[in-house]
Amino acid sequence: MNIKVNKSKNLKEKVKSSQLGFGQVFTDHMFKIKYHSDKGWYNAEIIPYGDISLSPAATVFHYGQETFEGLKAYKSKSGQIRLFRPRENFKRLNKSNQRLCMPTVNIDDMMKALKQLIKLEESWIPTEEGTSLYIRPFVIATNPYLGVKASDIYELYIILSPVGSYYKTGLTPTKILVEENFVRAVKGGTGTAKAGGNYAASLQSIKNAQDKGCNQVLFLDAIERRYVEEIGTSNAFFKIDEVVYTPPLTGTILPGITRASVIELLKSKKIEVVEKRLTIEEIYQASLSGSLKEIFATGTAAVISPIGELIWNDKSIVANDRLIGPISQLIYEQITDIQVGNIDDPFNWIEIIE
Ligand SMILES: *Cc1c(COP(=O)(O)O)cnc(C)c1O
Repeated sequence: MNIKVNKSKNLKEKVKSSQLGFGQVFTDHMFKIKYHSDKGWYNAEIIPYGDISLSPAATVFHYGQETFEGLKAYKSKSGQIRLFRPRENFKRLNKSNQRLCMPTVNIDDMMKALKQLIKLEESWIPTEEGTSLYIRPFVIATNPYLGVKASDIYELYIILSPVGSYYKTGLTPTKILVEENFVRAVKGGTGTAKAGGNYAASLQSIKNAQDKGCNQVLFLDAIERRYVEEIGTSNAFFKIDEVVYTPPLTGTILPGITRASVIELLKSKKIEVVEKRLTIEEIYQASLSGSLKEIFATGTAAVISPIGELIWNDKSIVANDRLIGPISQLIYEQITDIQVGNIDDPFNWIEIIE
């Protein structure tokens, strides 16, 4: 894959680290590659970041044929650019694409594109503690045709966004509403794919939770409406007595890369982790008996988000007196220290951009 580079002639002003939120500021360039079913992926280029022009009839606008990924690059104190498990993201993109009848990508080509783009945008990587360069690859179906079928043509982009510290005021446990009306995913559906449509379907639940003074929503399984599945767009973990539980990947859970990393890390620390379906009733009972120790959610954006309280109908399920627990703290510190290079990386999670 040969990448043409068209550099921007008017570079933007950088935004101060302290003013960065999430996903609001974008760098000067983006990667773009096109796909046609007759010729595969072609025309790889790095171009100035800017608006996209598409046919109003493009499949993505009408039938939601879109997938995406989210990962981060970090700058170490010595100036290294470090990516956290980037190949896992492109592997997952390929699985998502297969589910949505979209073409798969060559992972080595994507790594080459990503590294070249980030090198060009190196000066955009923030260095203050807790900050990073968020990377958003996405694929859209661009056929100008209103018939319902998988598109023949696609565009893949990678855009970059410097993001601020998720935890400006420390890791404050959140309050989560258990969703009783709507579901996120059903076996056989698209819940295991990172597809925009899943997010569209979850917005009403999140809005409802926020209207009730909660930060996020905990989704239950779609069939029995008993088993806990995911917390917003993060994977869920529950520590009961001395065991950490997380729902198994049985077709409704998004296989989070942070989730897999947390499982590996806890096992290496000899903390028991079990992939098992848990009902909300069991979690409630555990809170009554005092055996519910911690609840947390995992994902790229925040790494880990401690949960202080679940609201389930009229019941309140409190974990660890609404304070961050020792397991959540340990995971947060270990993973972020590996990401930025403060400690060794015994798991080989990091890919350094030379
Ligand atoms: C992206 C995502 C996650 C977290 O995945 P990571 O790879 O850890 O960022 C969890 N659940 C859903 C629904 C997601 O879209």
